[in-house]
Amino acid sequence: MKYCTTCGKENEDAAKVCVQCGKEFEEVQTQDAVEFVAPKKAEKFAGLAVAGFVLSLIGLLILPIVMGPLGLIFSSIGLKQTLGGKKRGKGLAIAGLVMAIIDLAWLILSL
Ligand SMILES: [Zn+2]
Repeated sequence: MKYCTTCGKENEDAAKVCVQCGKEFEEVQTQDAVEFVAPKKAEKFAGLAVAGFVLSLIGLLILPIVMGPLGLIFSSIGLKQTLGGKKRGKGLAIAGLVMAIIDLAWLILSL
C-alpha cells in the first residue's frame, strides 16, 4: 500500500491516481529521489578496511604473529567492500594489506 502525499488516503500500490482526491502519484520522481540519496551512503568508510589497517599497523610494532594474519583477513575483506565504489577506505585497505604482508614476511624471516 502507498499513501497519498496530498490527503494521506491509503491507495493500492498499482493506483495511478488517489481514489479520494484524484492526485496523480509521481512514481518516477520517487524512484529518482531514492537513487539520488544512495550515493551519500557510499561515503561511509568500510569498517573492516579501517580495522585491517589498524591491526596491521599494531602488528608491525607488536605481536605480528597475531595481528599479521588478522590484518591480512580484515584488509582483504575491507578491500572487497571498497571495490565498486560502494564504500570509502580503499587506500587504507591496500595499506593494511601491504603492512600485513610485511608482518607475515617479518614473522617468517624471524623464525
Ligand atoms: Zn489523495
